[in-house]
Amino acid sequence: MSGVELSNEMRERISMIVDRVIEMFRPDPARMKIDDPFHALVAIILSQKTSTRNVRAAMERFRARFSGAEAVASASLKSIQDAIKPAGLWRMKAPRIKLIARQIADKNIDLERVLSMPYPEARRILSSLKGVGPKTADVFLMFARDEQILPIDTHIFRVMRRLGIAGEKEDYESLKFKLESSVKPEKRILAHLALIEFGRRICVARNPRCSQCPFLEICPSSKWR
Ligand code: SF4
Repeated sequence: MSGVELSNEMRERISMIVDRVIEMFRPDPARMKIDDPFHALVAIILSQKTSTRNVRAAMERFRARFSGAEAVASASLKSIQDAIKPAGLWRMKAPRIKLIARQIADKNIDLERVLSMPYPEARRILSSLKGVGPKTADVFLMFARDEQILPIDTHIFRVMRRLGIAGEKEDYESLKFKLESSVKPEKRILAHLALIEFGRRICVARNPRCSQCPFLEICPSSKWR
């Protein structure tokens, strides 16, 4: 990505942070696998502000009721809301899921075929759907076919801002570029999962647990400094 400057020192710092959080949380990407691509896309939408356990519970109910995009596109909002109730923000997520399903059905998009396309093309098609966007497209490609990228979610943004790696106005593509330039392709899925876990358990949004943080000494935002 042009226009983003990254010093060797910054690369080394990012790499050190990522290695440390992977070691701390040892995430298991296999736990996130869902075979059917449409269901995988729904699970990613449900995962926003929801624990993995509640996503699983919601997906069990959703899969039992809806076999694919066509069924969701023609279902009532209430039945979708009811199916995904174990997930947080289910009222808001149901119309989004229905909107995405409607576009997939109307445009006759074959998600299996999208998954066989090169990354830029697959990402372009997915991001063109209202309600998907580049981050959701990236997370989908990462889990559904092991694309070796490093999508940035709100937890990762917050952690990177506090650690002085992301600027206040840093955008998605720029921070993704910084992390991908510093983390080897084979480690990126682990890095994504571990950084989210770090943001959920240690560097939480309100009152970060700095006393338990391994980056206390180097963090410009630590409340103990
Ligand atoms: S020291 Fe505190 S603010 Fe900094 S990364 Fe750790 S938990 Fe977050």
